[in-house]
Order: sequence, then structure tokens, then C-alpha cells
Amino acid sequence: MAVYNPKSMYADDFINHEEILETLEYAERNKNNLELIDSLLEKARPKKTAGGVHCAGLTHREASVLLACENPEKIAEMYRLAEEIKLAFYGNRIVMFAPLYLSNYCINGCVYCPYHAKNRHIARKKLTQDEVRAEVIALQDLGHKRLAIEAGEDPKNNPIEYILECLDTIYSVKHKNGAIRRANVNIAATTVDEYRMLKNAGIGTYILFQETYHKNSYLELHPTGPKHDYDYHTEAMDRAMEGGIDDVGLGVLFGLEKYRYEFAGLLMHAEHLEAVHGVGPHTISVPRIKRADDIDPDVFDNGLADPLFEKVIACIRIAVPYTGMIISTRESEKVRARALHLGISQISGASRTSVGGYTEQERPHDTEQFDVSDQRSLDEVVRWLMEMGYIPSFCTACYREGRTGDRFMSLCKSGQILNCCHPNALMTLEEFLVDYASEDTRRVGMELIDRELHKIPNEKVRTLAAQHISDIRSSNRRDF
Ligand code: SAM
Repeated sequence: MAVYNPKSMYADDFINHEEILETLEYAERNKNNLELIDSLLEKARPKKTAGGVHCAGLTHREASVLLACENPEKIAEMYRLAEEIKLAFYGNRIVMFAPLYLSNYCINGCVYCPYHAKNRHIARKKLTQDEVRAEVIALQDLGHKRLAIEAGEDPKNNPIEYILECLDTIYSVKHKNGAIRRANVNIAATTVDEYRMLKNAGIGTYILFQETYHKNSYLELHPTGPKHDYDYHTEAMDRAMEGGIDDVGLGVLFGLEKYRYEFAGLLMHAEHLEAVHGVGPHTISVPRIKRADDIDPDVFDNGLADPLFEKVIACIRIAVPYTGMIISTRESEKVRARALHLGISQISGASRTSVGGYTEQERPHDTEQFDVSDQRSLDEVVRWLMEMGYIPSFCTACYREGRTGDRFMSLCKSGQILNCCHPNALMTLEEFLVDYASEDTRRVGMELIDRELHKIPNEKVRTLAAQHISDIRSSNRRDF
């Protein structure tokens, strides 16, 4: 029988079913133990240190107690703490990105995904390199600098060579002032050799959602195709790291299984990566299942209502303070606004989830992966963020300067974000405002930037950033 061991390389050991069941029992027993809950909140609070700010985070057991807690005052305290942690490490910056769907050919049988192999009425499409170029230009015309590329699993139609060719095309398109500076990749679990090829192609984060950590459910939800292999899928991040990718992104598709089970599994996965590779996940995504072509989300009876979804986000933020958190346009404007307060640091904008969707005038539905709730333009999303006091950031400097993996984490822990990420965010926002924004958005943005410049503590950095911004405003542009 498998025994819980975060350092083991076997999925059944590091995502250990018995350990999750015991964790859930422990959390249930302690959900009204206010003394314990207070001590956990205290442990998780950001503390000033000589080298910056430190946050202890929480173990999967500890965080599961917070998630189970039903005391309204303690929940309100958790939400305040989640926001405090987010501000301590990420400030008020929100990183912007867009998904780019390359191909919806897929040989898997995932029962929640319209790309499943048996779906005969979804139009199958794979972008040619000319079409990739056209999509990238359309995305650049919106102002995007960071993409997440998406593809189904199909070794014949979308082999690794196809993905690499697309990456090459994506990075090579230079159009007006645009260039995609970071392409994250969300493709099916693969081999160490193929991960190494992705690394050599210059990808940003490798993202792979676990879908569910519950092995038996996983096997039922993925009845056919290579994705059926739970162990191969769950151990993928270890292979990715072995292949040299040091930024990996985890995620659960909420709605498939009981959320408390998924929450404990997700944190155990993060603990495993930290224990084995010395660095936790770069990001965690929190997708919820959506209606799509022949998929009815109500068929899955573990749907997570908005208040619980918010609690999950806040508890993840508290447990893994240094991990970026992503919310997509699967969620509405209202849910996204709330989630930003609870720990989300990256959002997509103006997304099209269909293959070739960005070059179409109207939002196409025939090849769409799921319905998009937030259908606003990027300009509207950017203005909305700024009106709430956030700085939409198009910065990719860390990646280009090699600050990935543990080097990014140490920047985060050193509390130098205000002297480093904050000015970079302001400069890339200024570029967006000058190059792509509407008059209204530009006005709101310039006022915000002028206010935010004063927050840079180091005088030299502040003066330099102000100079760069004024250069961009007068269109003396540099490549940041
Ligand atoms: N094919 C890749 C794989 O197997 O991991 C990933 C690409 S897939 C385009 C990205 C993610 O979309 C999946 O991992 C899944 O979590 C999510 N997804 C699939 N169907 C969905 C639905 N109906 N609603 C919301 N998200 C969905």
C-alpha cells in the first residue's frame, strides 16, 4: 500500500489518498477550534525580516482547517489576510495574458471537455503557421505581450514538432510596437525529452491542470486515450522539471470532485515540488467547469458556488504565499473582481477559446473550448482594473532576465517588488496606453501611473522609471 511521502516520485505516495482522507477528518474535527484557527492565521501573517518580508505559508493539513472553518468572523479575517499577503508580495499589479488555441484535435476521452475524441459535431481545426502569425498579430493589435498556448493531445496532428514550430512563429512575429515576450504552454503531459525541447524553445511556464486529484474519479473522467494514465499525468511536473523547466503551473478543474479533497491534493502537489525540486509551483489556476458544445456542467454534481470558490482562492493564497494565482475569462466580471481581492495576481483578457478566434470579427463558437463569461475587450478590462486601483502589467522582464524558478521566488521573498516589478509594470502599462488604449483608458492610466510612481522607495529607481515613462509618452520608445 502507498504511504504518504512528499519526497517520493510516485504519484500515489505524494498525492496519497489516505493522507487526504485523514486531512479532511482532521479539518472537520478542528473546524470550530478557534484557538487553532487563530494560531494558523498568526503563523501565516507576513512578517518583516532584515532581508524583506517573510510568510510561513501553511501545510495542506493546516490550510484544510481554515477551508473547513465556518465561523463568519474568522472567514472575514482570512479574506483580509489573503489580501494582505497578496499586497506584500505582488503589490497591486495584475499580470495580463491571453490564451491562444492552436489545435482542437484530440484523441482523449475527457468527459467534461468538448474536444473529446468522440465529439463528431465540433469542427476540428489546427492553425497553419500563416494562421498562427495572423492570430499573433491580432493579439498584438490588442496589446498582449504574454500568451498561454493551448492544444488538445494528438500525436499525429499536434506532435511536439508542431508545437515547437508554432512557438518559433509566435516569438518571431514583430508587428508595429508588438512582440510576444512570453509564451506559456498548456499541452498534455509528455516525456522529459519533449519538456527539454520546450525549454530550449524558450517557453515561460509549463501549465498542466490535474483536473482532479481523486484517482478513481480521474480514471472515470478520462476513460480513454493517453490522459487516462493518472500516474503519468500526476508525475508530469517532475518530468518537466527534470527537462529543465523551472516554472510550472498547477490547477484543478473545480466541479469534478469534492472541493476539499482537491484543495488538499493541490497543496500536497505544491509541497511535493518544493520538497523534491526546492521550488514550488510558479502559478496555480482555479478553473471551474463551464458549459461547452456537448458538455453540460450540471451533470457534474460537485459544482462550487461563488462563496465557496472565493474561500478556496483565499485559502490557497494564505497557504502558498509566493505562488502566482490565475483566473481566466471562464469567470464573470463580478467573480473576477472579488477574486482579485483574495489573491489572484494574473488574469486573461479579451480571450477567445476557439481555434483561430482572434482573427474573426464576431466571436466564433464552432471550435470553442468553453463559453467565455467575461467577454469585454482588453481595453475595457485594463480600464476596469485601473479604476479599482490595480496596475495591469504587461511586464515579462523576470523571464527575459532569467529570474525564473527559485530566483523569482527569492526576488518575491526579498520584498524588492516595489523597486523592481512595480516600475516595470508602470513602464509596460505606459507602453500599452500609448500604443493601444482608447482615450478614456489612456487618461485613467496616466493619472494612475503618476500616482504610483511616487510609491517607488528607491530614489534612483524612481527617477529612472519617471524618465523612461516620459520617453514613452513622447514616443521615444525602448524595449523593456
Ligand atoms: N490538452 C491539454 C491537457 O490535456 O492537459 C490541455 C489543454 S486544455 C485546452 C486546457 C484545460 O481546459 C484543461 O486542462 C481543462 O482543465 C480545461 N477544460 C476542459 N473542458 C472544460 C470545460 N468544459 N470548462 C472549463 N474548462 C475546461
